[in-house]
Amino acid sequence: MRDFDGDGPRRSFGGPRGPRRDFGPREMHKATCSECSQECEVPFKPTEGKPVYCKDCYKKKKGF
Ligand SMILES: [Zn+2]
Repeated sequence: MRDFDGDGPRRSFGGPRGPRRDFGPREMHKATCSECSQECEVPFKPTEGKPVYCKDCYKKKKGF
């Protein structure tokens, strides 16, 4: 077993999602919420024909 504590920044590199994904802003895409028609931004590319929800509506959909 290695002791990662003294090994510098290496543990944030090459995680399960691959390298270079840990820093920098996520790419956001403009979309219109299917529920309240507000403009919002989502961290994924909106697919045409699929509903997109803003944060509020997404929460509601999840049952909060
Ligand atoms: Zn909404």
